[in-house]
Amino acid sequence: MSFLKNLFIEHCPKCNKVLETHHSKTLKSIVIKSCPEHHYQKEFHPAFETYIESNKTFN
Ligand SMILES: [Zn+2]
Repeated sequence: MSFLKNLFIEHCPKCNKVLETHHSKTLKSIVIKSCPEHHYQKEFHPAFETYIESNKTFN
């Protein structure tokens, strides 16, 4: 199932670069993955077992 693999390596839907992984400064459990070109960002919230996605340039 590709979804599981995509938890580890993900690509920007716009430029296809590998997303950079960060940890939230305020909440260490939150993992932020973002495009180095700032096209796309998603936050993983383990407490809610969900992703919050934001497409910064998509309308
Ligand atoms: Zn991008």
